[in-house]
Amino acid sequence: MAKSPPLRLLWLQSGGCGGCTMSLIGAQGPDLVRSLEIAGVEIAWHPSLSEETGSEAASIINAIAEGREEIDIVCLEGSVMTGPNGTGMFHRMAGSDQSMMSVIEKVARRARYVVAVGSCAAFGGITAAGGNEVGAIGLAYDGKQAGGLLGEDFRSGSGLPVINISGCPIHPDWFTETIMQIGAGAFDERDMDDLQRPLNFAGHLVHHGCSRNEFYEFKASAQKLCDMGCMMENLGCKGTQARADCNIRAWNGSGSCLDGNYPCINCTAPEFEEPGHGFTKTPKISGIPIGLPTDMPKAWFVALASLSKAATPERLNRDATSDRLSALGEGKRRK
Ligand code: SF4
Ligand code: SF4
Repeated sequence: MAKSPPLRLLWLQSGGCGGCTMSLIGAQGPDLVRSLEIAGVEIAWHPSLSEETGSEAASIINAIAEGREEIDIVCLEGSVMTGPNGTGMFHRMAGSDQSMMSVIEKVARRARYVVAVGSCAAFGGITAAGGNEVGAIGLAYDGKQAGGLLGEDFRSGSGLPVINISGCPIHPDWFTETIMQIGAGAFDERDMDDLQRPLNFAGHLVHHGCSRNEFYEFKASAQKLCDMGCMMENLGCKGTQARADCNIRAWNGSGSCLDGNYPCINCTAPEFEEPGHGFTKTPKISGIPIGLPTDMPKAWFVALASLSKAATPERLNRDATSDRLSALGEGKRRK
């Protein structure tokens, strides 16, 4: 049987930091090159991975934008910057007078699959923080609001909406797995959640598999960063609400933000960049955190929390505000 021709992928960057590409380059088991081979995908152009630059790169992009060359997958990293005044001229394609906004729209409307890589491209992300003077939006969302650059009803050539591989940055495997599903012709709307995020990572909560779950069960809380307890009550952890598999799928071979003693800030969600409070603070009303777990009624959570707090083992109470675990017993510790 004749082998199918590879799917061609164009990657553009606009209002972002490039961190999603940096993360992707760190893919392991398999690495990025092998992952693309397995997926049957070849890169038409990528700003960090391709040799073509300047006018050579522009001619590839223009040929796709004008329909002289076909494209299967268009990926955007970074937000679409619509400013000033909706012109998009804050970011022009190098060496031309075209706004990146118009280039992105042209190539996206010719693609079989459109992939927003990172929370900037999906929802606006960090680039939209503060006053958002640059008018940063996502491909199909402006924060939580559906629409974005391409509009709520946008469908690419495959019939799918924009695929939002959100995260700041993305885990490399979130991208490589999605691209393998696309390459195998095995990705459809049932593989996405209500914000069009692939379920390969958005089918989990960050809370799942967190090494602090024992502390969470007994509401034994950390008071400061580097304490070993659960960071939900005092340090702003949103792991019980955040959709991602960070504590199941290791980052860089091991670990996660939580393992690094930093609370989950829900970076895969729209508007995570503007939580309305410090990232390491838990907003509360009458001592009860506002952002309670999404998978149980609030009244139950409050009732169970006070019961489990009353039954917290001494070991957990002590370790929750310590920078190390004492499971081996005090006598085993190095003095
Ligand atoms: S999503 Fe985060 S890491 Fe990716 S480009 Fe935007 S700011 Fe950078
Ligand atoms: S620190 Fe966050 S993710 Fe970990 S157990 Fe507590 S609430 Fe869950």
